[in-house]
Amino acid sequence: MLGLMQEWPLLCHKIIDYAAQQHGNRDVVSRSIEGPITRTNYGQIRDRALRCAQALDRDGFKLGDRIATLAWNTARHTEVWYGIMGNGGVYHTLNPRLFPEQIAWIMNHAGDSAIFVDLTFLPIVEAIADQVKSLRKIIVLTDEAHMPKDSKLDLVCYESWLAAADGDFTWKEFDENTAAGMCYTSGTTGDPKGVVYSHRSNVLHALISCQPDALGIAANESIMPVVPMFHANAWGIAFTAPMVGAKVVNPGAQMDGESIYELLDTEKVTFTAAVPTVWLMLLAYLEESGKMLPHLNRVVIGGSACPRAMTQKFQDVYGVDVVHAWGMTEMSPLGTLGALKPEYADLSGDAKLDIQEKQGYAPFGVEMKVTDDENIELPWDGEKFGRLKVRGPAVASAYYGGAGEEQFDDENWFDTGDVAHINENGYMQITDRAKDVIKSGGEWISTIDLENLAVGHPDVQEAAVIGVVHPKWDERPLLIIIRKEGKDPSKDDILSFMDGKIAKWWMPDDVAFVDEIPHTATGKIQKTELRKQFADYTLPTA
Ligand code: AMP
Repeated sequence: MLGLMQEWPLLCHKIIDYAAQQHGNRDVVSRSIEGPITRTNYGQIRDRALRCAQALDRDGFKLGDRIATLAWNTARHTEVWYGIMGNGGVYHTLNPRLFPEQIAWIMNHAGDSAIFVDLTFLPIVEAIADQVKSLRKIIVLTDEAHMPKDSKLDLVCYESWLAAADGDFTWKEFDENTAAGMCYTSGTTGDPKGVVYSHRSNVLHALISCQPDALGIAANESIMPVVPMFHANAWGIAFTAPMVGAKVVNPGAQMDGESIYELLDTEKVTFTAAVPTVWLMLLAYLEESGKMLPHLNRVVIGGSACPRAMTQKFQDVYGVDVVHAWGMTEMSPLGTLGALKPEYADLSGDAKLDIQEKQGYAPFGVEMKVTDDENIELPWDGEKFGRLKVRGPAVASAYYGGAGEEQFDDENWFDTGDVAHINENGYMQITDRAKDVIKSGGEWISTIDLENLAVGHPDVQEAAVIGVVHPKWDERPLLIIIRKEGKDPSKDDILSFMDGKIAKWWMPDDVAFVDEIPHTATGKIQKTELRKQFADYTLPTA
């Protein structure tokens, strides 16, 4: 027997329809690429998205066409996403931090037929356009006054192109499982792999992530997604914010501490989200300037492990609650979030930080387990760590073109490549990437735990741990440190700070001081590069 309820396909443009109808006047503020702060609202964004869809349709773009965007977080970028999807196309976010050749490779692999590009990134497109055979239209996200005059490419001005459509257009109709978006993961090894979101998965992900103990955002909030739309969908905020009618404040191209602070303050931002590197810059600016964060209530921190010292500073000095989150491009991207369950509600001080150092628990809509190398499920005891596997309606079931098949099993579990443990209350803690974990004498050492501990030292700016070959133990940890400016801690200072806080056999065998630690295009420490740099390193214990 079937239920007798309506078929109401979960389509992304229904989100912007809803926002325009129920929250049409809500501000969407952006630091524009041209400079000034601009202000629009959901009503206007929907109107312009409709015109964008109509113009794409008029230009012959059809259902399933992949259309790239190379752009910062702005209202224009948002309306373009909805316009592309509403015409049945697939927005394909490109990460400008990749090398131009990688971007060209990705565009060819995806078969992108058009690109919307910010002025900032035009040089990238100019460098690669002739290598992307499928590309037939380049639309620059600006007005006539700011159009470059001397480009060798045939460029279209977005504002004029949009103005030529009157908006008398009806969103296209299609199945909710139709592709809506694409994003390639920038793996540290091998070719990038394409994740393809569907309308259904984006809508469900937004519903999942606006649960109170997930992002928990509401119409009366002012939200700043610092996490870029070109990296893992800005953690879905371009869908969640209009779904709940929250005000959005887009930081555009400027992520430095002062610029972020300016928007947090003038736009009275109550909720924001970004990777730890961004918050390091903001915290340094606050410390220097003596400014406070009177409006901000919550900050979501993820993308890489949130250092304990950062959580502590936000909470104790600035009165801002930290929600530590974990996710990945393949998960749309949210996987776990660190709201405190009643079991932990009364904790304070170190005991609370111990829980917040974990990446949190899965909301409804995300299933997880950890397994050993034989695929046997490990108990949730907060200790035994193994491969973290996930499944759910907003988790990838394959990569575009069938790459990486081995990461998906017959029961739909996706192997995240992360190593983690889960405690009795469901809180997961990442201990490593599977390829970074150090295998010492047959036992595993978590590099992330060591890094987290080392950055707690007041003179340490950044820390990375890699395994270095050891004749007796196979591998032993080497701690690599960038000192804070003007500070000069010694190896012994650092090691004695760590002593007693971890098992003796986890203690790094040596400390190396460097001026720079290499990062990937998505801001993660590039351990493959570090391993190359230290390939001939001899440990004093060897
Ligand atoms: P991406 O798909 O580029 O967002 O990268 C996803 C990967 O980033 C995950 O598989 C983790 O290895 C890492 N990651 C994300 N969030 C966290 C976190 N809170 N703590 C530690 N690692 C994280």
